[in-house]
Amino acid sequence: MTNIALIGCTGSIGRQAADVVRRYPDRFRFTALACASKAEELFALCGEFSPRLAYCEAAFTPPAGVKAVRDRAELFDGCDVALIAAGGFAGLAYTLAAIAAGKKVALANKESLVCGGELVMRAAKERGVEIVPVDSEHSAIFQCLAFRRDARFERLVLTASGGPFLHKTKEELARVTAQDALRHPTWNMGAKITVDSATLLNKGYEIIEAKWLYGAPFEKIEAVVHPESIVHSLVYFADGAALAQLGYPDMRVPIQLALTYPERLPCAPALDLARAGKLTFLPFPAEKFPCFSLALEAGRAGGTMPTVLNGAGEVAVRAFLEGRITFPAIAETIQDALCFFARERVECYDQLAQTDANARAHAHAFIYGSSAS
Ligand code: MG
Repeated sequence: MTNIALIGCTGSIGRQAADVVRRYPDRFRFTALACASKAEELFALCGEFSPRLAYCEAAFTPPAGVKAVRDRAELFDGCDVALIAAGGFAGLAYTLAAIAAGKKVALANKESLVCGGELVMRAAKERGVEIVPVDSEHSAIFQCLAFRRDARFERLVLTASGGPFLHKTKEELARVTAQDALRHPTWNMGAKITVDSATLLNKGYEIIEAKWLYGAPFEKIEAVVHPESIVHSLVYFADGAALAQLGYPDMRVPIQLALTYPERLPCAPALDLARAGKLTFLPFPAEKFPCFSLALEAGRAGGTMPTVLNGAGEVAVRAFLEGRITFPAIAETIQDALCFFARERVECYDQLAQTDANARAHAHAFIYGSSAS
């Protein structure tokens, strides 16, 4: 029996994790469920899964038998794995709390590594805690490396669907709406990450994630466009051989595998190659989607810069979803913040939280002309 603390139970990954647990009640059990605001949904999940602990950042009264905790760290009592599926910068505090509690982390929150990679990897090493990727590309790489993070490789290639705007011109991109951006061609995800996939900021984040997870310099990590989302990523080796992981886009596979590896259990329909027919690959259109290059620039600068990138990005994407700014203004907001803030060496979580708050306030002022939120 694997005891799981699920953080972010009402988001897209959280719901699919619930599906996995539902299918294998003899293998998996939720010891704790946590979410940011959807108290009613959390209540229903508590009724179905009877965790010992529940946590909601909003007001919440749990059903009988479930204890509502107010302290994040307490959530990880009695679990074997902390599945961190919270969205945004908020996920980092949970990841660090899980590591401090000495728990294995199945990581679906990319901001934990984008913003806090240095702190997270250092703390995990000190505590002897394993960080298992849930993001589909990083799970694919993990599989191609035979689940060995210290395996030798030459190059990592992350695949990208290219999002809904791959073939749009710059002029067309200036007019796209949030509704257009939310029509992702292959993956069904939350609104924030779907917009991040449309700007290709998401792929920049994933390159930073890969750097931390696999200890690879940026020169050894590339992205290629693969519109069918069947090949989930590839690893190249010294002899020129490349290994890839293939499958229909279905996040339940990497979620379940993070909980069971190296064991594999039935999860999703197997790929029908003849039906898939043709798999295409295209050069990455970095010049048309400046968010990608901004992410790499922040990643290369390191220190607090990726946190600036993310904080400004979260504010810009929300403004775009609310119809307040245009699609190109997402990149402009991020670029302005990256120019404004100076890089600092990462010392601790509180410093990153302050950087995040400063970047948000700055982006808010850039968009709305005042820093009040
Ligand atoms: Mg991904």
